[in-house]
Amino acid sequence: MISSGMAVCEPEASSQVAALDTNALKDLFNLKSIAVIGASEDQSKFGGRLFKNLLTHGFRGQVYPINVARDELFGLKTYPDLTDLPETPDAFVIALPSHLVKTHVERAAALGVKLGIIISSGFSDAGDAGRAAEEELVQIARANGMRLIGPNCLGMISPQNGIVLCSSPVVDRPDLPKRPIGFASQSGALMTTLFDRVWSEGGGFTHGFSVGNQADLEVCDFIDYFVADEATTVICAYIEGLKDASRFLESARRARAAGKPLLVVKAGRSEAGREAAFSHTASIAGDAAVFAAVCRQEGIMLVDDINIMFSVANVLASQPRRPIRNVAILTPSGGGGALAADALAEAGIDMATFDEKAAAMLSKHYPPGQAQNPIDFGTRVGTDESLSSRETVQALHQDTNTDAILCVMAMSPLFWQLQIIDAQMAMADQATKPVIFAIDAGRTSDPVRARLTELGLPYTNSTADAVKALDYLKKLGALQPSAGAERPQDCTAANAPAKSGQYDEDQAKGILAKYGVAVNEGAVATTAEMAAGMAAKVGFPVVMKIVSQDIVHKSDVGGVVVRLSNADEVTAAYNTMLQTVKSHVPNARIEGVLVQRMVEGSLEMIVGARKDVEFGPVVVFGAGGVLVEMLPDRFIATAPLSKAQVLEGLQSLPIWKMLAGYRGRTLDYEALVDTIVRVSWLAWDLRDYEFELDVNPVLVGSDHATAVDARLLIV
Ligand code: ADP
Ligand code: MG
Repeated sequence: MISSGMAVCEPEASSQVAALDTNALKDLFNLKSIAVIGASEDQSKFGGRLFKNLLTHGFRGQVYPINVARDELFGLKTYPDLTDLPETPDAFVIALPSHLVKTHVERAAALGVKLGIIISSGFSDAGDAGRAAEEELVQIARANGMRLIGPNCLGMISPQNGIVLCSSPVVDRPDLPKRPIGFASQSGALMTTLFDRVWSEGGGFTHGFSVGNQADLEVCDFIDYFVADEATTVICAYIEGLKDASRFLESARRARAAGKPLLVVKAGRSEAGREAAFSHTASIAGDAAVFAAVCRQEGIMLVDDINIMFSVANVLASQPRRPIRNVAILTPSGGGGALAADALAEAGIDMATFDEKAAAMLSKHYPPGQAQNPIDFGTRVGTDESLSSRETVQALHQDTNTDAILCVMAMSPLFWQLQIIDAQMAMADQATKPVIFAIDAGRTSDPVRARLTELGLPYTNSTADAVKALDYLKKLGALQPSAGAERPQDCTAANAPAKSGQYDEDQAKGILAKYGVAVNEGAVATTAEMAAGMAAKVGFPVVMKIVSQDIVHKSDVGGVVVRLSNADEVTAAYNTMLQTVKSHVPNARIEGVLVQRMVEGSLEMIVGARKDVEFGPVVVFGAGGVLVEMLPDRFIATAPLSKAQVLEGLQSLPIWKMLAGYRGRTLDYEALVDTIVRVSWLAWDLRDYEFELDVNPVLVGSDHATAVDARLLIV
């Protein structure tokens, strides 16, 4: 749920973020002494492996093994209990069975230990009894100012602080490579898997935290820590479910303010959209779609592939950052260059056209027709490889049209490739654009990988991955937090409905009209004669629609008839409609027939809104009418929205081409923008309720946008 604070204030105020106590956070994880409860030498046990891993990775503080049965472990004096230690340690770690944990937490809390890392599982991960036990641990800790990581986690791996509190075999290596990337993971196995993979691909981390059940410290605390930690410049997180959405937004805003990109992979993308029981909005703006929308609005980079997340992080952490539009390719292979160019084009990234100066420099080294993007190093004319590679790389770095350089290292004499790498290094001081290497070959290219790793240059193991990474880097430049929305003057919260219930078309349109949305007039008839009379008043042609709480999609059951031109047609249609609807839905309670003005329009759009339990009211709009769930053409954002945001959203949709005018037709998209802005304020005003609103379709014509159907459910 959104916090009550967020719910009562005006939206502009909700983006204020409280400052962090950075020193307290840094202090919490910068440990000087650690007690290992249940330490042993037995490498078949969690406690044994964890203890050994801590000892082998250069922790400079004091380690206190705790084991009732031993006086010494790996040569270290061992104590029977926390209470026997010569000092209060900064932290304790425990991997014993769950029923043994509470006693130690109590003792640690009483001693004033500041951090407990509980590896043990069997808490909220194991049902209600476990949940209660976990809550008890948190209470004990909080009452004494102690913080907890876990339970049910794989601990922490902090190359930066030389602290390894993790039993995983991935740390069984001589060194733990560092890069300025912090990682908080809701899956311990994934954390260790990725550390291992990233390490073997030349990357590294400052710190990794496996957050486990997040009983006390949760993902956002670690994001906050990474914001506070000077050694970390890029933040990565793997998230399954958020504990507190408004906190997540706060942490994300802090990261953004600190200039530290936040990259997130979130599980649950494949969750099927909800059944459209009441509204289309619920099925097209499901939870995953809303999360993606929030990330886009908040400048969080949502990545759909966890390996790509680290490729992107690695480039961000080691290379200059700048908006990416045009890319230069340098490769020793014509084929590699051609395929990379295709992949870039498919991702919508342009190939740079070199400026005159760069072209002139390149033409010294390549035959006519070859001194252009992609540059095939194999075609160079000179005999001095070193000079060619240096001047080629220099030309690309100095070219004013190139924003990033992709080096596709296809198989070729090794020294060519090493020379390209050296040339990049020679430019490192003056470089203002990122360079990314792609190595598609197998073991023969290992010396190239080794050289790149040694120099700290980022690479991927396929051109496809490098292009994906470039695509995300390009998107990152385009992520802009939303500007404040302004409430139209005649759009007041006092007009928001305050009662739960299901609002039919006529009632929902009444509410929309009060918010200044253009709707077509109409009224409900309960006899054919009444219908004919109303049609005359409204003006022909008219549309007739069935009114029934039991019918969600009226046209599916013969409940909509359009273009009725006279009283006779209305009378006939009235009777036929009742019959047809009854034959489709025999038990439907029919309240009457809505007679309304027929609206001319060339395009049907949906404008919907709902309350998301995590992020509050959201708005969705896109191609509408009866095809709404078939066309994936929609934009989602949290309410309320500014005109500029709506316009930008519309412009991002394929249907924008039709809205903007085609084949001599012009459509009044400004009226549509106004409608969406107003619906977004209605959504904002309904933020304290769970609700679903469909305005579908809004018919857009040459001089209007009119809501001709609407339904609203307030729970
Ligand atoms: P439902 O969505 O319940 O099936 P609608 O009221 O949206 O019913 O009507 C279905 C379709 O009929 C609309 O998508 C639109 O094409 C057309 N329609 C409905 N009302 C009007 C109207 N007043 N003017 C013009 N076309 C209309
Ligand atoms: Mg409809």
